[in-house]
Amino acid sequence: MKLIPLPAFQDNYLWVLHDGQRALVVDPGDAQPVLAYLQGEGLQLDTILVTHHHPDHIGGVDALRDATGAKVYGPARETIPEPSTRLCEGDAITVLGLRFDVFDVPGHTSGYIAYYCPEVGGRPLLFCGDTLFSGGCGRLFEGTPAQMLASLDKLAALPGSTLVCCTHEYTLSNLKFARAAEPDNLKLINYQRRCEELRERNLPTLPSTIEQERDINPFLRTRLAAVMQAAKHHDAATPPDDVAVFAAVRKWKNEFK
Ligand SMILES: [Zn+2]
Repeated sequence: MKLIPLPAFQDNYLWVLHDGQRALVVDPGDAQPVLAYLQGEGLQLDTILVTHHHPDHIGGVDALRDATGAKVYGPARETIPEPSTRLCEGDAITVLGLRFDVFDVPGHTSGYIAYYCPEVGGRPLLFCGDTLFSGGCGRLFEGTPAQMLASLDKLAALPGSTLVCCTHEYTLSNLKFARAAEPDNLKLINYQRRCEELRERNLPTLPSTIEQERDINPFLRTRLAAVMQAAKHHDAATPPDDVAVFAAVRKWKNEFK
């Protein structure tokens, strides 16, 4: 199996997984780069997985379905291009012979789902779109901080070796904020250096891993004393409870330059 991030728009990745003959694509906001890749590699598109309804995640679904006849899976509680098979937590699907478990992870949008494959090429794999980024998390457009914290807790509890395939190359700007939230985290400092080197060579910083994110991502670390103190330092009114600290860190990031 080969896992490829196809660049699209400014900073999106359209993840393709294929076995040399058949492929799946996640959140194709644009059909063109996917069709070009399929043609170049001689692949048949089997399946389209959709995490949520934002245009940069569904814009290419109809064109790809029309061109290839691919099956479309998406969230049960959101509006995406039909026909699709609607999924929610507890569902499992088999794509290219691989099992994918579906998780409800509301927060960025209210009906958001993520796709988790327990084993591909010897390790687990997560397609999480705009919920978990490397060094960050999605903005709360529809959900509450409590929902997003619970969603991120669910993803952070996956095996550490899980490959984290997110939809945007936001890593360097996320890490700039992470350094402000946790200036003394040595793993974070080292990771930032490695990611800067990758971007200088125009290479993706993704996929990340769950273990990496647990070590450096402030949104998975809001219960740690250092992050709680930083949140309180930024906004002295932050009460000492998990959701309030998470909400304060998310708000701080929104304002961070
Ligand atoms: Zn989105």
